[in-house]
Amino acid sequence: MNRRDILKYGALSIAAATTLVGCKEEAKPASKGATTSTSAGVTAPLVPAKGPRVVVVGGGWSGLAVAKYTKKFAPNADVVLVEKRSEFVSCPVSNLYIVGGIDLEFLTHDYLQAARENNYEFFNATAIGVDKANKTLHTSEGDIAYDHLVLAPGIDYDYSHWGVDLATERRLRSEYPAGFIPGSEHLTLKTKLEDFEGGNFILTCPSGNYRCLPAPYERACLIADYFKKNDIKGKVILLDENADITIKKKGFHSAFDEMYKDYIEYVPGAKINSIDLDKKVVNAGEMEDDYKFEDAAFYPHIRAGKLIEVCGVAKPDGQREGNIDPFTYEVIGEKNIYVTGDARPMGYSKSGNTSNSEGHYVGKLIAERINGKGDIKWKSPLTVCYSAVSLQPEHAISVRAEYKYEGRKLAGFTNVDMNNEWRGKVGLNNGKALHEWAKGMFRDMFN
Ligand SMILES: Cc1cc2nc3c(=O)[nH]c(=O)nc-3n(C[C@H](O)[C@H](O)[C@H](O)COP(=O)(O)OP(=O)(O)OC[C@H]3O[C@@H](n4cnc5c(N)ncnc54)[C@H](O)[C@@H]3O)c2cc1C
Repeated sequence: MNRRDILKYGALSIAAATTLVGCKEEAKPASKGATTSTSAGVTAPLVPAKGPRVVVVGGGWSGLAVAKYTKKFAPNADVVLVEKRSEFVSCPVSNLYIVGGIDLEFLTHDYLQAARENNYEFFNATAIGVDKANKTLHTSEGDIAYDHLVLAPGIDYDYSHWGVDLATERRLRSEYPAGFIPGSEHLTLKTKLEDFEGGNFILTCPSGNYRCLPAPYERACLIADYFKKNDIKGKVILLDENADITIKKKGFHSAFDEMYKDYIEYVPGAKINSIDLDKKVVNAGEMEDDYKFEDAAFYPHIRAGKLIEVCGVAKPDGQREGNIDPFTYEVIGEKNIYVTGDARPMGYSKSGNTSNSEGHYVGKLIAERINGKGDIKWKSPLTVCYSAVSLQPEHAISVRAEYKYEGRKLAGFTNVDMNNEWRGKVGLNNGKALHEWAKGMFRDMFN
């Protein structure tokens, strides 16, 4: 599939396509053997490993799959999942939660259960650095020696593209959180909507390969749906830095036009020029237009989770993602350290299904290395993504895609199945499939 084919597929992500095609997978080695941060010599309270120890940092969609499938395919491995949160809260389907379509219980899951069911150890701590020479991970609860180390910390926000000072950034993070990192941000967003009395509600969409390409458009639809059904005289202004909707374009445009004409103002090419939080005005776009708001959720650019940089395994430019081999996920020049999930540099969709399917592959790859069987054949990650455009009745659109390489260069999508139809029975079936997909994913990660 060449670039023209990708765009022909009804805009399977302009942003992702650009990232995909422009992506060069060769990279320079990371600084070898360096130590970053320490735990002051404190050892983590873990029973000594009985087999090769695999430490997975980050209990998200990626890390949970890596931990489970490493242990499944190498039962003698001693697998430890290090996660800073004490319970899992899902980002996927959280847009339904903020408008009251599902409850928090549906999103929240038990790390201890995942560890018990799959025979690995859950270690509730924050990773703070690594001593590569001594193969030791430093955490807030002490040091852990490893044979294989997987870093799957997800993303962090990068507000630098908006040129805001630190005080404004802190206000943006606390008063207008993006809602693209799970937990408190989603609770804040839900409260904002419950308290909203009318006027403009601004959402922003960054450019680059941001987390979950369709989610800002899905969120615009669901908030508009919420205003409409609750008789709130509100309008969602979606300031999109991209020239057009980045994925499922036909489906979202038709939903905006046919269902939410009076409730969504979609503004493409709206790069943010300035944000005045006291006057509640955003200036955006080449024409430098002002947009007043009553409330907002500002989604800035993203970068890989800071841990990647802290551990000295980040690419020096771009979104500071892991400097890895695209087929083994191993850090260039560092044996047995891997980076997976949204912190990877390959131009795949930064989505949960992608991270989970990739986690199956990387888990098996590490297991077979432990089993002395060598590397397994590369398998494409699988992107499956449903987006709701309305609730009760719930209508959704979807996309499914895999990836292909030419040599070592990512050459685009393959086996694409785009479903932009949200009307009628097809849309209703997509809505049902969305819930079944989420339940299936939670089963895979926690059972
Ligand atoms: C609103 C929204 C809707 C979405 N919808 C979909 C969808 O419908 N379908 C889909 O496939 N994807 C969707 N996604 C995308 C999906 O959530 C992400 O792509 C996925 O979570 C990436 O997995 P990950 O494991 O890389 O990161 P995460 O799931 O974010 O996990 C990273 C984990 O690492 C932990 N961590 C970070 N640093 C440290 C540290 N130093 N020490 C210990 N732990 C650490 C974090 O606490 C976190 O638990 C959506 C995302 C959002 C925000």
